[in-house]
Amino acid sequence: MSAKIIDGKAFAARIRGRVTEHVANLKAGHGITPGLAVVLVGEDPASQVYVRSKGRHTVEAGMNSYEHRLPADTSEAELLALLDRLNADPAVHGILVQLPLPDHMNESSVINAIRPEKDVDGFHILNVGRLATGQKAMVPCTPLGCLMMLRDLHGELSGREAVVIGRSNIVGKPMAQLLLGDSCTVTIAHSRTRDLPAVVRRADIVVAAVGRPQMVRGEWIRPGATVIDVGINRIPAPERGSGKTRLVGDVDFEGVAGVAGAITPVPGGVGPMTIACLLANTLTACCRIHGLAEPEGLTV
Ligand code: NAD
Repeated sequence: MSAKIIDGKAFAARIRGRVTEHVANLKAGHGITPGLAVVLVGEDPASQVYVRSKGRHTVEAGMNSYEHRLPADTSEAELLALLDRLNADPAVHGILVQLPLPDHMNESSVINAIRPEKDVDGFHILNVGRLATGQKAMVPCTPLGCLMMLRDLHGELSGREAVVIGRSNIVGKPMAQLLLGDSCTVTIAHSRTRDLPAVVRRADIVVAAVGRPQMVRGEWIRPGATVIDVGINRIPAPERGSGKTRLVGDVDFEGVAGVAGAITPVPGGVGPMTIACLLANTLTACCRIHGLAEPEGLTV
């Protein structure tokens, strides 16, 4: 069998197109422009790349982007004061604090200081609780993107066996909640799971969010299963020249593509969906804050 390759890049472009269209209608019909504030503390190079890219996509979708770059020695009190101002600012509908934060800050205190309605990352404890109890929440972008791809591919997910590998608060746990919300039978596997291959072999849907390059092997996969690879790992690629690297997922793409029914590639799978869902969440937050109808299919 040769798996269908799920084109996350094309799907994300469609989502961004719908967001852009809805933003234009909001402006024309209500004079409202959604605004996303991104806060970066410190000079982590990867975070700087992410923040730049988020700002660019926000503007391309017709929304306002507000970037706040603070030095690494900013105190937590100063950051909390900025979040207070953004919480109160009517032009800001979404607030994202780029993680990781410097060691002297308490990540939970900072995230929980964001007004839940503006928490477009969906990490605030209230949004976590709302998602877990089936209430309307802001949903973390990466798992939301995975769910959208799964719904697009399969329609109804009810009754399917899903295995999520990884139990992080930003991917694994919310992914499992979303699949449960769609009535899958969900198993969360993690670093202490006994006989991971046997657990994965049960799955109709596998979501790998581990951070270990090419860990999931073709022999683990039930023939025809759908495999969503969240992992982004940089590995040496001497075949491209000395010192060169390349990106791979948590899934051994070549081996798994021969067995699975469908698979997301890395790059070009989950990654582009994450940013598309950030834009979708900003739009959703804006609509909710203004009491306007939410766009269909851009959140759960
Ligand atoms: P994390 O380190 O917080 O969590 C990793 C999880 O994997 C842990 O729960 C751990 O129990 C589990 N794990 C570790 N070793 C394991 C093993 N041998 N067997 C089974 N489980 C094991 O990571 P994270 O933040 O959830 O990210 C996971 C991966 O997804 C990373 O590669 C990250 O770069 C990537 N990621 C991608 C996007 C995207 O937009 N595509 C977004 C977030 C994270």
